Amino acid sequence: MPDELLTTAVAPGELVFFGGPMDSGKSTLALQMDYTQSAHDRKGRLFTSQDRSGRPHITSRIGLEKDAIEVDDNFDFWRYVKIQLLEGKRIDFLICDEAQFYSVEQVDQLARLVDEIGIDVFCFGIMCDFRTQMFPGSKRLVELADRIESLPVRPLCWCGRIGTHNARVINGAMVTEGSQVLVGDTGDGRPDEVHYEVLCRVHHRVRQPKGCSGATLSAHTLFED
Ligand SMILES: [Zn+2]
Repeated sequence: MPDELLTTAVAPGELVFFGGPMDSGKSTLALQMDYTQSAHDRKGRLFTSQDRSGRPHITSRIGLEKDAIEVDDNFDFWRYVKIQLLEGKRIDFLICDEAQFYSVEQVDQLARLVDEIGIDVFCFGIMCDFRTQMFPGSKRLVELADRIESLPVRPLCWCGRIGTHNARVINGAMVTEGSQVLVGDTGDGRPDEVHYEVLCRVHHRVRQPKGCSGATLSAHTLFED
């Protein structure tokens, strides 16, 4: 089917981005969204990238999981959906977890599916990396989404404030340099491995993860510069 046949007047769908820090229930909400949409006899597909399980699954920290299609560097959303439709299958919506790992081109493909085929696309992803910089996939979603939703569950920093920033911790010390993607958080809490923590901005700025006796916000540290 030539692409132009797909572009005849369809009501556009909606591109929605649910973004936030880690531990804010993104994968749980992704699975709930799939359940709710499917309950109304809508047909969807689930996608993920580099899920914590190491398999093409959407897994949530509270134990829910479901098979998903892995989005690697070469995956093409537009091509995938086009082939599915050509085979006579129906697709009403896409659930896209770990969308921070998608490329700019892949997010552009999602927007095109929304506009030209009328598919609803629900993306879930971490907004910023451990250096407080936006992931390319999340940045592109912020630029293109019809709607950006913050997640209702707000993780807490160890100090009790709302956690807003992801910290990468190696051997108990927070680091602010290194490659953007380093999947190491398996949740088993072994201190000698890479893990991630959600901190408030204050404790992210002074590099003080849980259990770290490093910098504190004394008058001394505030004015020593
Ligand atoms: Zn804090």
